[in-house]
Amino acid sequence: MQNQHPADVILRSSEKESFYSWKIFLSMSSPVFSDMFTLPQPDTVNEEDVCDDEQVPVIDLEEDSRTLGHILSLCHPPSCVGTRFQLNSLPELRNVLDATEKYDMGNALRMALEELSNPSLLRDDSLGIYALACQHACHEAARLAAKHTLTLPCLVPQYVPALERIHAGHLCRLFLYREACATAVCSLAADHTWVVYTQYTSLFRCDQSETDDKLEWTAVRNPPSRKYPDGRVEHVSVHKWWMEYMKRSEYALQRWPHSDAVKDDRLVDDALHAISTLKCEGCQAFQVSQTFQSFMRIFAEKIDRCIAEVEIVLGF
Ligand SMILES: [Zn+2]
Repeated sequence: MQNQHPADVILRSSEKESFYSWKIFLSMSSPVFSDMFTLPQPDTVNEEDVCDDEQVPVIDLEEDSRTLGHILSLCHPPSCVGTRFQLNSLPELRNVLDATEKYDMGNALRMALEELSNPSLLRDDSLGIYALACQHACHEAARLAAKHTLTLPCLVPQYVPALERIHAGHLCRLFLYREACATAVCSLAADHTWVVYTQYTSLFRCDQSETDDKLEWTAVRNPPSRKYPDGRVEHVSVHKWWMEYMKRSEYALQRWPHSDAVKDDRLVDDALHAISTLKCEGCQAFQVSQTFQSFMRIFAEKIDRCIAEVEIVLGF
């Protein structure tokens, strides 16, 4: 961040790194700095710290170099500081938000808050982003981060630093949202009447005897017809392994309401193994396995659509 242009103030980080700056930009960005430059500040602008060569006052700040670099890049024209605001981690964002709030840098704070939607930060720590979004009452960012927390197989498996910053009410709302998502998607695994069974003929209506212990029955849907525009519900026979897969999916979705839960290796491998050992005549393992995988894709998409309809209730 240091540059060769004549500067009229030096900000020094907690590591004693000097950042050359201009009072005009700092004053325009922050009433706190503006006051500091207009009022005598014996504690912050120390005569002993004034550089002899350049007669530039030095202000020692509590922020570390990285944070100081970020907030200066937010309140100076890029041509002055030579760097663009770019965050690498959630702790960096947290420090920048704290500092911009502390110095009352309204515009810089707004620009930093846009980083709450940064995809890589959301991927790395969605709970941490949710906590920050709630802290700053950013509704859309909190909603997006809450949705991202569903990619976690368990919301809070152990202590995480984000918990220090999150209000119990906001955490409770996140648990309630997860529960609402689980209720919505579990019904897809328990009630099969959304499945238009003719799209997956090799999974249903196996022509083995009804007394065969490898067969079960379930209610699925016929394709829409003139008489039944929504498709009529029909009971059909289905392989036992498919029912087992759906039951285990339901159990998994209760804890982890996300499409990845039904694509879990153990679940899928067990189903594929059962398919490979099918004994019934007329059911070809290869075809059944292809149909199952296509069903699984549609099932996962249905789960994603179902979750997209669930809205978190935020208290702001
Ligand atoms: Zn069969």
